[in-house]
Amino acid sequence: MSAERTNWAGNLTYAATLIHTPASVEELQELVARTGRIRALGSRHSFSDVADTTGELVSVAGLPPPVDVDAAARTVTVAAGLRYGDVAEELHRQGWALHNLGSLPHISVAGAVATATHGSGDGNGNLATAVAGLHLVRADGELVTLRRDDPDFDGAVVALGALGVVVAVTLDVVPAFEVRQVVYDDLPLRTVAERFDEIFAAAYSVSVFTDWASGTARGWVKHRVEDGDGWTPDPHWLGARLADGARNPVPGMPAANATEQQDVAGPWYDRLPHFRLEFTPSSGAELQSEYLVPRDHAVEAFGALARLAGRIAPLLHISEIRTVAADDLWLSSSYGRDVAGFHFTWKQDPDGVGPVLAEIERALAPYDARPHWGKLFTVDPGQVRERYPRLADFRRLRGAYDPDGRFGNAFLDRYIG
Ligand SMILES: Cc1cc2nc3c(=O)[nH]c(=O)nc-3n(C[C@H](O)[C@H](O)[C@H](O)COP(=O)(O)OP(=O)(O)OC[C@H]3O[C@@H](n4cnc5c(N)ncnc54)[C@H](O)[C@@H]3O)c2cc1C
Repeated sequence: MSAERTNWAGNLTYAATLIHTPASVEELQELVARTGRIRALGSRHSFSDVADTTGELVSVAGLPPPVDVDAAARTVTVAAGLRYGDVAEELHRQGWALHNLGSLPHISVAGAVATATHGSGDGNGNLATAVAGLHLVRADGELVTLRRDDPDFDGAVVALGALGVVVAVTLDVVPAFEVRQVVYDDLPLRTVAERFDEIFAAAYSVSVFTDWASGTARGWVKHRVEDGDGWTPDPHWLGARLADGARNPVPGMPAANATEQQDVAGPWYDRLPHFRLEFTPSSGAELQSEYLVPRDHAVEAFGALARLAGRIAPLLHISEIRTVAADDLWLSSSYGRDVAGFHFTWKQDPDGVGPVLAEIERALAPYDARPHWGKLFTVDPGQVRERYPRLADFRRLRGAYDPDGRFGNAFLDRYIG
């Protein structure tokens, strides 16, 4: 049991008074079956109250941590509470890789999957799209397995903890690969608007960071090394310059905390995330928000945000723009459409940030933007619900898995209903 009751950023104290850490799946099954109201907690990196409950919380971080590769099926089955960073190192050792990672390797697999956590790349689905199977404890304490050919599967992967406690996840793997990462300074914001598609198509994974105030951005370009490819980064790119040293995406934070850049080839897991596993990611003293906008509207949305630069910039550490490929997962922020993610790492000033979020949300409303489930937003719950066409199907699924709403919480009441 844990006495610590705050999330990673410290902006949220969980209402739950008990946080259990069972050491075996059987112990977890008994706990779930006998506890009235209970929810799974991951590595606590969400800023929203998505994980919280007025009942009890349970972490699966204490379960045995297998990383079992099935080379013939090209999958790996991992304990749900493992951090991506731990899974990745073991996978790489065995010659395998995941298709993509988020900006930090510190988050748990189950928690990331449950909220549709994503990295970047026009051709890369979010991290939940790699899920080929889920092993979860339902409200009645039964351990069930769901695979891709199951009719409920697309509803069960990004499930916000509403269907049960996931104990293991089977993920697709690909042969291990290397990535070369370079950063470009002083990419004009005008050019980001004018050449948006070209910028994000430039490499396997591209992120654009801006403070909205300087009129420029930094481009984080992650090139997947293919045998015999002759890729060499141009010293100049669309008006930007190749950085003359290592950078941290967050201004003022040490470059040593960020993964290696300057075109040095390295393993996928040590280049696709921006932050190194052994250091605190991002800033720490922060809040985060993100809105996933259909790619067709990305440039208009960018323009709408640029018009709010004077409101956004004083409260901001940094903003990041990424792209994510469409998927079929009902509650995924990229369900049914390619999206561009407009992310904000805010200073830890909730009173200042709240009203600006409302302005951003008004500006993005015409583009049907879906807020990131794990970050902060103030969008009207009715509008959020309208943006998920399979919500009614998800409600039916929830009714079947958890008829008494024991995995429910205030967040699900608001946004799922
Ligand atoms: C510094 C930082 C950087 C980030 N970078 C990115 C990024 O690059 N891309 C991005 O998309 N997001 C990013 N995020 C957001 C983060 O990935 C999500 O909030 C994610 O859900 C956090 O995972 P977690 O393990 O901490 O889950 P928690 O926050 O603990 O829980 C999130 C949800 O997952 C559910 N859950 C957790 N474990 C289980 C389980 N075993 N079974 C069932 N449900 C479970 C919980 O019930 C809850 O609903 C970042 C957050 C931080 C703090």
